[in-house]
Amino acid sequence: MTVPESLEYDVLVIGAGGAGLRAAIEASAAGVKVGLICKSLLGKAHTVMAEGGVAAALANVDDRDSWKVHFADTMRGGQYINNWRMAELHAKEAPDRVRELEAWGAVFDRTPDGRILQRNFGGHRYPRLAHVGDRTGLELIRTLQDYGIHRGIDVHMEFTVVSLLISGGRAAGVIGYERDRGRFKVFNAGAVVLATGGTGRAYKITSNSWEGTGDGHALAYQAGAELVDMEFIQFHPTGMIWPPSVQGILVTEGVRGEGGVLLNKEGRRFMFDDIPEAYRNQTADNEEEGWRYTQGDKNARRPPELLTRDHVARCIMREVKAGRGSPHGGVFLDIAWIRKKLSNSEAHIKRKLPSMYHQFKELGDIDITKEPMEVGPTTHYIMGGIRVDSDTQMSSIPGLFAAGECAAGINGANRLGGNSLSDLLVFGKRAGEYSAKFVRENARVPVDQAQAAQAVDAALKPFDHGQSGGENPYAIQAALQEMMQNLVGIVRTESEMQHALQELGSLRARAEKAGVQGHREYNPGWHTAIDLRNLLTVSEAITRSAIERKESRGGHFREDYPDRNPEFAAFNIVTRKASGGQMETRRVPLPPMPSELKQIIEEQKS
Ligand SMILES: Cc1cc2nc3c(=O)[nH]c(=O)nc-3n(C[C@H](O)[C@H](O)[C@H](O)COP(=O)(O)OP(=O)(O)OC[C@H]3O[C@@H](n4cnc5c(N)ncnc54)[C@H](O)[C@@H]3O)c2cc1C
Repeated sequence: MTVPESLEYDVLVIGAGGAGLRAAIEASAAGVKVGLICKSLLGKAHTVMAEGGVAAALANVDDRDSWKVHFADTMRGGQYINNWRMAELHAKEAPDRVRELEAWGAVFDRTPDGRILQRNFGGHRYPRLAHVGDRTGLELIRTLQDYGIHRGIDVHMEFTVVSLLISGGRAAGVIGYERDRGRFKVFNAGAVVLATGGTGRAYKITSNSWEGTGDGHALAYQAGAELVDMEFIQFHPTGMIWPPSVQGILVTEGVRGEGGVLLNKEGRRFMFDDIPEAYRNQTADNEEEGWRYTQGDKNARRPPELLTRDHVARCIMREVKAGRGSPHGGVFLDIAWIRKKLSNSEAHIKRKLPSMYHQFKELGDIDITKEPMEVGPTTHYIMGGIRVDSDTQMSSIPGLFAAGECAAGINGANRLGGNSLSDLLVFGKRAGEYSAKFVRENARVPVDQAQAAQAVDAALKPFDHGQSGGENPYAIQAALQEMMQNLVGIVRTESEMQHALQELGSLRARAEKAGVQGHREYNPGWHTAIDLRNLLTVSEAITRSAIERKESRGGHFREDYPDRNPEFAAFNIVTRKASGGQMETRRVPLPPMPSELKQIIEEQKS
C-alpha cells in the first residue's frame, strides 16, 4: 500500500459536535494550528438533535440555585461514583460557558426581565436548563459554528477516522478516508482530541443519530487507552414507540418539565407508586403540588415524573410487564391534560415544545395538544467512555485527549438531563486549552508509516471479502443490535450477559469476513463494515463491565443483584486491552473526596 497524502496540525480534533467545536475554538484561540474532522457535514453532528437544554446554575429563575446544589444533584444522580473533581469543575464553570455562548450570539428563551430562561428537568433541584424551545442543540451548534468558522480552523467534513497513530507511546495523528471518494489521508498532529460522541447504535432501539457508533471509544481502546464505567448506559424513559419506523426517537424530558404526566392504561399516574428514599423529601406527594412545581411555585416539590431517568425507565418497564402498558408496549405521556389548568394550553404547548408538536403530528398523526403520546425507553446516552484526567482531559496516552460523550467521569452511574450540553462546553474548552498547552511543551512526533499502511489494508479488507461473497455487514450489524437490546439491555442477568459474550465472539468472526461490493466512492456498505468493528468493541466493553458490576446502580440494573451494594460504591470499572490483545476489566478505587465537597453533599440531602 502506498503511503497516502499527509497533512500536519498542532491540535487535531476528531468530531464537530458541541465538544469538538468548543475544543477547536479554544485551541485556535491559543494560537496553534487546528484541524477539525467529522464524519458528517459541519452542522449535522448529533449535538444538533439535543432538545431540552443546557444545565447551568445561573439562578435566573430560582435564586436558591448555586454551583453547590448543581454539584450535589450531579453526584446524587450519578450515585456517588462520579469523578467528583469533574462534577465540581462542571458545576462551577457551566454558568460562564453558557453566558459566553450568549455573548457569541446564542438566542436563549428569556425571563420576563430579559435574562436567560431556565426550565425544570429530572434530578435537578431547581429550574436549571437554559434552553431555546426544544431545539437547544441546534442553537448551540449554530453559535459555535458561526463563531468558530472565523478562527482559522481547517475543517475536513465527511471524513472517517479509522485508526489513531501512536509513535513511541504518544499520539502522533490519525488515518482515515473521505467518505465520498474513498481516498485515504494521514494526519500528523502534536495532540489529538477525540470528541466523537456516543455508542447508541450498538442497540436496536435508540435515540442516537447514525454517527453514534462508538468510534472514539473503540479507537482509543485499540490504541491502548483506558475506558471507564462502560456498563452505565442511559435508557431514556421516553422514546416514541409507534409507528415502528420511528421507534426510539426521543421525546424530550422537557415535556414532563412543562407539566406532562405519565399514565398507565388505567389512566393512573403510576410514578407516585415508587419514590426512592433518597428523593422522598424533594418529591411532591400529590398531583396538585407537582403541577405547582412545574409552574414555578418555589414552595412546591417536583413531581415524580421528574425523578432520574434510570428510575423512571424502570417504573415504565414495571407497568408494561404487569400488563398495564399502552397498546404498543409503552405507557402514555400526557401534556394535553394541562388544558384543565391553562386556558391557552394549545398555544402554550406549541410555543414551549414546538419540535415535539411537529414530531408527533408528522410522524405519528398525533396532536399532543389534544391527546396523549405513547412512549417507552430508548437507548440514549453512555455514561462510560475514555478515561481522562479531570482537569486536562488527557487520556492515559500522552497527547491523546477526549471530551464530550466519548469521555467519561462526570456522570457516574447516571447522567442528569442537560448535563451533557454543559459537559461539552466545559470540558470541550478544557480539552482545547490543555491540548494546545501540550503541543507547546512537547515537540510533535512523526507518524509510523507502516502503522498507517496496516490500517489502510485492514479498512479495505471488506472489498477483498466481497469478491468471494462475504456476508453483508448490515445483517451483522442488525444481529448485533438485536442481541445487545435483548441480552445487555435495561434489565440484565449474569447468564444472559455470558450468552452475549459468546454471541459477540461469533459476530466478530462474521464481521471479520464481511464483504462489500462495488468501489470506494459513496459506498455505505463499506462505511457500515468499518462502523461494525467499533460497535463490536464497545459492545464487548459494555458487556464485560456489566458482568463485573454485580449490583444495580444508576443506568445498570441487574435482576440477579437488584440492590445497590455499598462495596461497589468504592470503585470504577476500567477496561483496557491486555498485552495478549484480549479485553480485560479491573476495579479501580475512587480517589477520596475532599471534606468540603462531602459537606456540600450532606447539606443538600435534606
Ligand atoms: C435526541 C437527543 C436529545 C438530547 N437532548 C439533550 C439535551 O437537551 N441536553 C443535554 O445536555 N443532552 C442532550 N442529549 C445528549 C447530547 O445531545 C449528546 O450527549 C451530545 O450532543 C454529544 O455531543 P458530542 O460533542 O460529544 O458528540 P456528537 O455531537 O455526537 O458529535 C460527534 C462528532 O464526531 C464525529 N465522528 C464520530 N466518529 C468519527 C470518526 N470515526 N471520524 C471522524 N469523525 C467522527 C461525528 O461526525 C460528529 O461530528 C440529547 C441526545 C439526543 C439523542
